[in-house]
Amino acid sequence: MTLRLYNTLARSKQDFSPRDEGKVSMYVCGPTVYNHIHIGNARTFLSFDLIRRYLEHRGYDVRFVQNITDVDDKIIRAANDAGVPAAEIAATYSAAFLKAMSDLGVEPPSAQPRATETIPEMIGMVETLIERGFAYAVDGDVYFSVRSFPGYGKLSGRDIDDLESGARVEVDERKHDPLDFALWKSAKPGEPHWPSPWGEGRPGWHLECSVMSEMELGVPFDIHGGGSDLVFPHHENELAQSEAATGRPFASYWLHGGMLNINAEKMSKSLGNFTLLKDVLEAYPAPVLRLLMLQTHYRSPLDFSTERLEEASTAYERFANLVRTIRWHRARPAAGAGAPEGERAALELAVTDARTRFEADMEDDFNSAGALGGLFELARSANGFLSANDAALAPDDLAIIADVETTVVDLLGVLGVTLPADESVPELPEGVVSLSRDVAGYEGTDRDEAADAILAARATARAEKDWARADAIRDGLTALGVRIEDTAAGARVTVSES
Ligand code: AMP
Ligand code: ZN
Repeated sequence: MTLRLYNTLARSKQDFSPRDEGKVSMYVCGPTVYNHIHIGNARTFLSFDLIRRYLEHRGYDVRFVQNITDVDDKIIRAANDAGVPAAEIAATYSAAFLKAMSDLGVEPPSAQPRATETIPEMIGMVETLIERGFAYAVDGDVYFSVRSFPGYGKLSGRDIDDLESGARVEVDERKHDPLDFALWKSAKPGEPHWPSPWGEGRPGWHLECSVMSEMELGVPFDIHGGGSDLVFPHHENELAQSEAATGRPFASYWLHGGMLNINAEKMSKSLGNFTLLKDVLEAYPAPVLRLLMLQTHYRSPLDFSTERLEEASTAYERFANLVRTIRWHRARPAAGAGAPEGERAALELAVTDARTRFEADMEDDFNSAGALGGLFELARSANGFLSANDAALAPDDLAIIADVETTVVDLLGVLGVTLPADESVPELPEGVVSLSRDVAGYEGTDRDEAADAILAARATARAEKDWARADAIRDGLTALGVRIEDTAAGARVTVSES
């Protein structure tokens, strides 16, 4: 199969073909660390984690680079508001960001450079741009001259003259053109600053991504990603700086994630309509949030609501329960007469369909929503099969439900959605053997057999309406930390999750 992906630069879906066979170089703009991230930011980071994981699943060796913007106007403002140094704000929130990513189960980047640790290289790029006639210095500031770069606008599809006429009348007379943007900013009193050929100052925001991506990946690299709000001006400016400085193409494929909205409005710090990721993760496990996000294609807008979180929670439980039930069956001998041949064949087909659909959908611009749809179908088929044949399973049936389990666990795993580990079927405690001896006259030593004998004794007590005895049996199990679940196919025991 051929992986196809939508490239913003080409404004179309293209076949993916990395520069070095078997390897993918990928850069995704990271956060500006002045506050905890909200779930809109988290969506973009999850989308690119999905893309990276899928590329790895496909066998590519992925080098994934993401910056941390640790000096910026917003950080300085937050520091002034809090009356602490800017570096303290940046340190606090970059640590919080790393923790949030780890809590979300996002794979750590191969390299995670910080702006403040890349100052000499940034100064180097500004010098190159001045030498090559793409930038000019005025009073300690340096600007990129947008008109000097003929390709300006090619990423966002904007026309430079339209941009010009739409630009606000510039108050800054020192710029040659209102569209020119800052590469280096002279330091104002109280701001962080570094020495440079143009005096004390700090880098403009766009510059760091151009410098770090080239340092870590070389140019051109394969994939550049970020949220769609970054296409203009941030990515347009990165592209212009890099191609002007190196004379080479910058990135081959530009991927942009859709925005997370709340009541049809972009979630953002400035609008104040945000929900912090850490608050969501206090109430819901990370795989639930991930499942919610992945049910929408990464480029489409996503409307967030608590109802959708609840729905994702139910969907997650459906997968988790299916896998739990399968594990429960697999831990027991299958001595039944076997499911009807037709039903077993239908379930086998459902497994193949889910796998085929997963690959086909993911190859089509990482369509996780479609891929998940196939897995939901499979879960539905498997639940139907199990409820119809629960008491009759034979070894062939166990083999096929084991296949269902592997398919669901593995493919959800490719998407980064982890299901509870196998220890959700912990071994029964040793005490069930002696309890079984007491209440059911069991004479063996096998814990599962002992439990079956206890359940049989309870069933007999209930059939004889000896409620006191039935309750005493259940209480005996409860005291051992074992729960009885009454299901359509009869009672079963599970070890209580403490
Ligand atoms: P920032 O820290 O503002 O530069 O944002 C970090 C990342 O989050 C960028 O890739 C943005 O595109 C992305 N982002 C910001 N707001 C949203 C949103 N509402 N939905 C999706 N991504 C967002
Ligand atoms: Zn960037």
